This record gives sequence, structure tokens and C-alpha cells, in this order.
Amino acid sequence: MMEKVLLKNAETPDSHTVGAYEASGGYQALATVLRDYQPDELIELVKESNLKGRGGAGFATGVKWGFVPKDPALKKYLCCNADEGEPGTFKDRAIMEKDPHQMIEGMILCAYAIGAETAYIYIRGEYTLSIQRLEAALQEAYDKGYLGQRILGSDFNLDIYVHCGAGAYICGEETALIESLEGRRGQPRLKPPFPAIEGLYASPTVVNNVETLACVPHIVTRGAEWFSAIGSASGPGPKLYCLSGHVRKPGLYELPMGIPLRELVEEHAGGAKPGRKIKAVIPGGVSAPMILESDLDVCMDFESLAAAGTMLGSAGVIVIDDNDCVVRVATRITEFFAHESCGKCSPCREGLSWAVKILRRLENGEGKEGDLEQLDFLCDGIFGNTFCALGDGAAWGLRRALQHFRDEFVYHVEKKECPFH
Ligand code: SF4
Repeated sequence: MMEKVLLKNAETPDSHTVGAYEASGGYQALATVLRDYQPDELIELVKESNLKGRGGAGFATGVKWGFVPKDPALKKYLCCNADEGEPGTFKDRAIMEKDPHQMIEGMILCAYAIGAETAYIYIRGEYTLSIQRLEAALQEAYDKGYLGQRILGSDFNLDIYVHCGAGAYICGEETALIESLEGRRGQPRLKPPFPAIEGLYASPTVVNNVETLACVPHIVTRGAEWFSAIGSASGPGPKLYCLSGHVRKPGLYELPMGIPLRELVEEHAGGAKPGRKIKAVIPGGVSAPMILESDLDVCMDFESLAAAGTMLGSAGVIVIDDNDCVVRVATRITEFFAHESCGKCSPCREGLSWAVKILRRLENGEGKEGDLEQLDFLCDGIFGNTFCALGDGAAWGLRRALQHFRDEFVYHVEKKECPFH
């Protein structure tokens, strides 16, 4: 069993306070870096650790930091993406509620590495306890000299501000997040230029997820070699997995990256509920296509899941059992994406609302001949033709449900009823 790293303080009384964090070795990494590391050396350390972003895309964190221009005349920004909106995902909330200084220390280290003196935490507005805990933790960090001017007596200055989102899922996409932070409607920007070159206020900007940043202090204190030896070689480290749906022990689990999905679901989360069998699993939040029970031996890392035709995404694992109707699951997910579509591009805006109309018809026992072919056509029209990944994710998941569970869809059309409800 892997020792806890990201959740090691979670059960400690007052784990969210600076005193508890310091007692567990917190802010030692910051002191070490300010004393012994040049910014480039810290970037190299993070590259050596092979830390991959935990927000969904899985991009190499140190490489992303290295893209930021070194020109001291350019103002740089760091944005922590705390807009955790992917259904089935609640890992970043746990870090922010239980151990916010871990993430704040990671932000200070990142800002030092890229030369930023201003950083923002873009957090989903519904996370009220996280917001309170972060605000209090930031004040503690200022009081202790970990933030502000001449941090720990060095020449490094940093201010961090909390910005609350207004509930739009699309603002978890990094360029939409930046648009929203600038005060505009949250819609994705065309890439390139990527934010590392031209992001917030047209300045070089790193956008990193909460869990990604929380890993950084541990890499400094325990070394890149220690981190890269945990779990999968292609994307190593401790990982938070969110288990929900029809399992006996839903919850948040910290385990190595690359653990087999079957072990995660059957051993740690206790498997299917009594008398039921697992039918399919969504491994990475609802943007990730479901996989069949027979494919559960796949490892939970970026490459293995991509090879299996799905993705790690946010590691929001949703278990579907043999009493669940996949047509209903697909309808709820497609309704979500249609509602959250920002409307910028027509394949997503029009295609998803059209798909919802057909799916609701199937659910209501009003399906008709040609509906499934129409859904196939819509998936083909959306996938690969949208401005950002929201449309792709929605169409990819729906297409996979149609492929894997065609018989359930056909039953709804032919019998005009649901076999499960
Ligand atoms: Fe907006 Fe959807 Fe187009 Fe993304 S794919 S830009 S969410 S309309």
C-alpha cells in the first residue's frame, strides 16, 4: 500500500491551518528552493520528475513551465485552475478544504520558477468551504512571510488572489478561464498562441490544476527520482481517484498513478453493490468514454487509457452496473454538455441540443426508425469539428455508448420502453 502523500494530513485536526502544515514539513520546500535553486533549476527538477498535469490533458508540467519566455521585462502570471466542474470529480476540493497550504506552496514554487509576481486561483463559486479555507490560508501565508514582498528574506515577491467563477463548466478550459478572469464571457480562445506565450492580459501565463501544483512541494523535498518511481513510468506520482456510482465504497482514494482500474474498483472501492454486476465504467469524468467490464484490467494512466480508447481525464471514475440504463446515462451526460456548451461553434451548440432531443425521445418511449443512425451522424459531425474539447468529449462518449450498448438503444426504439425502469 502506497503511503499517503497528497492526503497525508487530511485526517489531522485543523489540517487546513498553517500550523498543521508546517508541523508536517510544510513550506520547507519553499525555503530550500529560495536558498538553493535558480528558477531554471527548479524547472529542470520538475521536468526530471515527469509530473504530468492532473487537470485532464496530461501535459508535462516542467515542459509547460519551460515554455514561458525568460525576458525579465515581460510580466508573467500563474493561474491555478480550481474550477473543478467535471461531473464525478471531487479531488481538488479535498485538497483545498483539507490542506490548502500544500497547493499554495506549489503555487509559490511555480511562480518562482516562471518569474511571476502575481497569481490567481480561479475557483468554482459553488465551493464555498474551499473558498473560505483558501482565503484564510492565504492570509496565514502572508502573516508568516510566505507571500508578499521579499518572501523569506529573498528578492522574490508574490501576491495571490482568489477569483470565484460563476458556475460555467467551460471556464475549466484554460483559455476560457483566462477570458473569464479578464472579465469577459467565458469562451475558449483560438490556440496558438498558447497561454505560456500569450495568456492573461496578453502576457505569458501558466495555468495548472490544483492537484498538479500540490505535487510540487513533495518533488522538491523528496526528489524527482522518488516521485518518478511511483506508479506508471510514463506519467508517475501519487494520484487522487474519485470513485462514484454503483460501488460499495464510493469516495476519494490516493494510490499510485497507473493502478489497474479493476483493482481500484473491485478492491479499494469494494466492487459492485450486493447482487449486482458491473456493466461499464467511465474512467475519467463524463468527458471520457465508458469502457466495458471486460476491459477493467487497463491501467489508470494517460497512455494506457488512450490506448484503450478513452482517457484518464480528471480521474473521476463512475461505475455503471447491470441495473443501469445506458440510454439514460447517455441522455443525462449529453444534457449536461448541451447545457454547458458555450455556443461559440455550431457543431457543439446545435449538434448537442439535437442529440438531446433524440435521446429524450428514446427515453420517453417515442423513439422512431432512423433515430440511432441520426445520433451516429451527429456524433460524426461534432467529433473533430469543434472549437474546443467540450464538443469532442460529448460526442466521443455518446458514440462509444452507442457502439458498446447498441442493443439497449435498439430496444428503446423497437419496444418503446426501457428494459430497466
Ligand atoms: Fe463552445 Fe462547445 Fe464550441 Fe467548445 S466546442 S467552443 S464549448 S460551442
